[in-house]
Amino acid sequence: MSNEKVDVVLVGAGIMSTTLGVFLKELQPHLRLEMIEQMPGEAQESSAAWNNAGTGHAANCELNYTPMRADGSIDIAKALEVNVEFDMSRQFWSYLIKKGAIASPDNFIHPVPHMSFVIGADRQAFLKKRHAAMSAHHCYHGMEYSEDHARIAEWAPLIMEGRDPKQPIAATRIVSGADVNYGQLTTNLLGYLKRQDKFTIHFSQTVTHLHRLPGGGWRVEVKNETTGEKRTIDTHYVFLGAGGAALTLLQKSGIPEAKGFAGFPVSGIWLRCGKPEVAERHAAKVYGMAAQGSPPMSVPHLDTRIIDGKRWLLFGPYAGFSTKFLKHGSLFDLPMSLRPDNLLPLLAVARDNFPLEEYLVGQVLQSKGHRFKALRDFYPNVKESDWEFDVAGQRVQIIRKDTAHTGKLEFGTEIVASADSSIVALLGASPGASTAVWIMVHMLENCFHEQLVGHWVPKLKEMIPSYGHNLKEDAALCARVRAETAEVLKLQVA
Ligand SMILES: Cc1cc2nc3c(=O)[nH]c(=O)nc-3n(C[C@H](O)[C@H](O)[C@H](O)COP(=O)(O)OP(=O)(O)OC[C@H]3O[C@@H](n4cnc5c(N)ncnc54)[C@H](O)[C@@H]3O)c2cc1C
Repeated sequence: MSNEKVDVVLVGAGIMSTTLGVFLKELQPHLRLEMIEQMPGEAQESSAAWNNAGTGHAANCELNYTPMRADGSIDIAKALEVNVEFDMSRQFWSYLIKKGAIASPDNFIHPVPHMSFVIGADRQAFLKKRHAAMSAHHCYHGMEYSEDHARIAEWAPLIMEGRDPKQPIAATRIVSGADVNYGQLTTNLLGYLKRQDKFTIHFSQTVTHLHRLPGGGWRVEVKNETTGEKRTIDTHYVFLGAGGAALTLLQKSGIPEAKGFAGFPVSGIWLRCGKPEVAERHAAKVYGMAAQGSPPMSVPHLDTRIIDGKRWLLFGPYAGFSTKFLKHGSLFDLPMSLRPDNLLPLLAVARDNFPLEEYLVGQVLQSKGHRFKALRDFYPNVKESDWEFDVAGQRVQIIRKDTAHTGKLEFGTEIVASADSSIVALLGASPGASTAVWIMVHMLENCFHEQLVGHWVPKLKEMIPSYGHNLKEDAALCARVRAETAEVLKLQVA
């Protein structure tokens, strides 16, 4: 069996590993990086364009980031966090375009206004308050609100045509939103990595085992899926950017920090329409409100998508339950992840989240008619024959041990690292690809603190000029960063 030596092994060729790879190569160009991907190409799981919704999540339109407090006021704290996290992505992508690492923004990011749309007097009142709270903050400068049918029809004609003119509705709109093809972005980032020394990528190879080396670092076992050959790689650091399968590999590492974590997989289905006469008439990502008991990521939305130069409409996702951790994974993924340390948390979550399970099972059992009814709430005049179903990527939500006998279901992202930071895994899927840059910076701060403080900060500031400043508090800097990145990425300024 052959054995190689590198500095960092990146498992998976999705948006997370490629983003981290670029960061590491920019910060320390002589590092030897090896990326291992079990699929025959990059971005074939959640990062693929059709496997996610392509929203540049800046918490403009996703109502789950702005809950109502007990006193009826709207809490925008989480929205603001996500909003400025996306500014880090905008700066990092702009830096790469300006230095020629990525040729242009045209193949991966497009300006698409972000809208929230609600039906009913209660929801109207909620959206109005939300708009008042958000538009008062400089981060949401330029967000518009309307209850007027004619005005909303100017923003998004398809959602208004055929609607009862007396129906109480409301919408917000911000023009600075984006549609992002994260699959193409992954390809762009990988293209840049491939042009560098001391970087290798291996497709159709699976990381099967991880063993701690006595002197520090890891021995990574890899199987070639084409030839069946096995080899090992010795490395100082391992990043488990394996998407839903990161939990499986984390468990294989045997690090104590992995104990108590379990995964809750959520599958998804979209409806999509590529007819130019329909797709050309909608220019927005329109998010509604999640149904009672549904997970926040299952909020239905009617989205403009631009993929490989073609304009589409996407509606969904219709969330469901499947025991696979990856779209191309195995039905045994969930059962094989059960351990004495995560069984009780998982059962506790199952016990405490009955409405969610009921919702997911209900979604799986939905008929075609039910699915079109949900779309019709957004697009009353929909013609069913214009649309086709497509399977979305898998999301594995995190379950973590809370107290001895309870577990907590989380919808965010979690970085799990060994005490010596030699192995780091990324669990969870939300807000996802949009905040890959923030996630990686956060990871560098926590796991590579010494290198960061000692050497990397000046370079990091070159890549992300606002690094070290708080855009939530510095209105002038926020406006400047947005104007500069909008110009490079060809986005609108609100
Ligand atoms: C339905 C849906 C909608 C979404 N919508 C959005 C959105 O609108 N905006 C947004 O920002 N985010 C969205 N997301 C989240 C986003 O897609 C993910 O957060 C992101 O793509 C995760 O990237 P990743 O690199 O971690 O994982 P992935 O893209 O899944 O990549 C992981 C890779 O690891 C490989 N791998 C796994 N195990 C092994 C192994 N043992 N050996 C070798 N390779 C391995 C896999 O084959 C895969 O290629 C959505 C996700 C879903 C599922």
